[in-house]
Amino acid sequence: MTTYQTRLAETLPRVRECIAQAAHAAGRDSASVRLVAVTKSHPLEAVEAALSAGLTDLGENRIEELESKVGALGRDAATWHMIGHVQGRKARHALAFADLVHSVDSAKLAERFARMADEQGRTIHVLAQVNSSGEAAKSGFAPDRAVDEILRLAELPGLEIDGLMTMAPFVTEEAVLAATFGGLRDIHEQLRAQGDRVGPELSMGMTNDLEIAIREGSTMVRIGTALFGPRAQTAFSGA
Ligand SMILES: *Cc1c(COP(=O)(O)O)cnc(C)c1O
Repeated sequence: MTTYQTRLAETLPRVRECIAQAAHAAGRDSASVRLVAVTKSHPLEAVEAALSAGLTDLGENRIEELESKVGALGRDAATWHMIGHVQGRKARHALAFADLVHSVDSAKLAERFARMADEQGRTIHVLAQVNSSGEAAKSGFAPDRAVDEILRLAELPGLEIDGLMTMAPFVTEEAVLAATFGGLRDIHEQLRAQGDRVGPELSMGMTNDLEIAIREGSTMVRIGTALFGPRAQTAFSGA
């Protein structure tokens, strides 16, 4: 077994148990929480280990790395999630290589995706990223404008908004995390009250805050460190 296979044999059952317990505590079915395994900055070996461990949803935060891994393993090897900021000039690559882009953080990017997808006669599935913690350094739709803007974007042909995504601040205070995730859920409820133009997904929760995210309604947790260990900045060397 490779190092990553050995590690996953230990970590994956632990993560799944953690998800199951959090879901149970919230009175939810654990099958309602999808595990997106975040392989960013880990080598191809990590992705292969994830696939052989039965993980089907894989997340990357850089287009180059996504493209390289999809290139090596094939478009159909997994459901590929793009979870990091997408620059306008890389949008075409995201459209080509990601099944779901979690990080649509501006109207401009959403419009660009819609235009490209429509031109190609297809649909791109995205989540709208909301800056529900309100931190200046974080990208995403501002909470006070999110409902109106996202409803407008949901009308664009070529664009399917499957739900919302947020990133919590890097803190441990439960109240702050719960407020961030609860804030996203509130915005989502307002959107869903307007019909079903925006889908049911709530992408929230990472290694350090997945229990709270699940309690607040997460349908997708994005987990890297708890599965694959700490990331070395240089672990992934690109194409
Ligand atoms: C890296 C990353 C994750 C995974 O973080 P961990 O703390 O390692 O679980 C989740 N979401 C996004 C957007 C990320 O960039």
